Amino acid sequence: MGIPAVRSGRPSLDGRPDTPFLLDRFGRVARDLRVSITEKCSLRCTYCMPEEGLPAIPKDELLTVAEIVRLVSLAVRELGVQEVRFTGGEPLMRRDLEQIIAGCHEQVPDTPLAMTTNGVGLEHRARALAAAGLHRVNVSLDTVDRAGFAKLTRRDRLDSALAGIRAARDAGLAPVKVNAVLMRETLSGAADLLQWCLDEQCALRFIEEMPLDADHEWARANMVTAAELLDVLGTRFELTAAGRADPSAPAETWLVDGAPGPVGITASAPRKFGDPCARTRLTADGMLRSCLFSDQEYDLRQALRAGADDAELATLWRGAMWNKWAGHGIDAAGFVPPERTMGAIGG
Ligand code: SF4
Repeated sequence: MGIPAVRSGRPSLDGRPDTPFLLDRFGRVARDLRVSITEKCSLRCTYCMPEEGLPAIPKDELLTVAEIVRLVSLAVRELGVQEVRFTGGEPLMRRDLEQIIAGCHEQVPDTPLAMTTNGVGLEHRARALAAAGLHRVNVSLDTVDRAGFAKLTRRDRLDSALAGIRAARDAGLAPVKVNAVLMRETLSGAADLLQWCLDEQCALRFIEEMPLDADHEWARANMVTAAELLDVLGTRFELTAAGRADPSAPAETWLVDGAPGPVGITASAPRKFGDPCARTRLTADGMLRSCLFSDQEYDLRQALRAGADDAELATLWRGAMWNKWAGHGIDAAGFVPPERTMGAIGG
């Protein structure tokens, strides 16, 4: 297992053209920023977190509201970021989430702000978050079977998650997108999940399981493929391939015949995942990551707290992205999962 290679120094800018954007050596430009704001979560999904949760980030190492707002604003104004998504852990675990959203919205009012959440507790906060400036939510939901949900997440909170999705939709955070990790355990319930999403006017995306589980038990042989999923769904629905709406999005889309409105399914195929990838990531403790699968991190928090001005922070960020890998290497025989799990990086 690799130890996170935290670089607090300056990444090399050798050969980098003079552009303000987050360009890498392979010509990709990151326009999408993922900001993890906590490692805490209200659930304990078996593929993501150990039963006891992730080790807590010391409070003084977590980015504050003001720091997050400053970095998001910098990314949009100086680095060409066009969409910001807040992740965790579970973003709703932060009581100051509404302040984070409001602060960012005030600074960059034209930039879409989105959140990935498990939906637990969202029913009580969806209106306030929408009022603060949140535009969209993706809700992680793998099954609508209560016993299956409780087993998978180690918490009996399905009702709260479903109420959260409805509340988000009713608060205007629509269309709500539901993300489901594709697993053997839930494959037989995939059609029920799709039917629930159709009934509730949510888009559904199946994501192939990634090697970022806390227990490091991921194995390619256990993966459910998109083809298997389509076979299962095909017994109840008529599906039509619709291709990729956005060439940089790691997903393909199928339309469900007879569905009212823009309901589709997207499955991320591993051979395509992350390549081309237009994302840049900030962890809850202020590390810059150029890729979900890389252990390469750059310490933006230290620079920020040492008094770096916006120009210095922007240079560090550009350098981190310039040194991004060609791909994630997930298909390579020697692939080693990153030390931080999905819950710690932010999905
Ligand atoms: S997958 Fe999401 S909801 Fe589940 S434990 Fe991880 S962060 Fe929490």
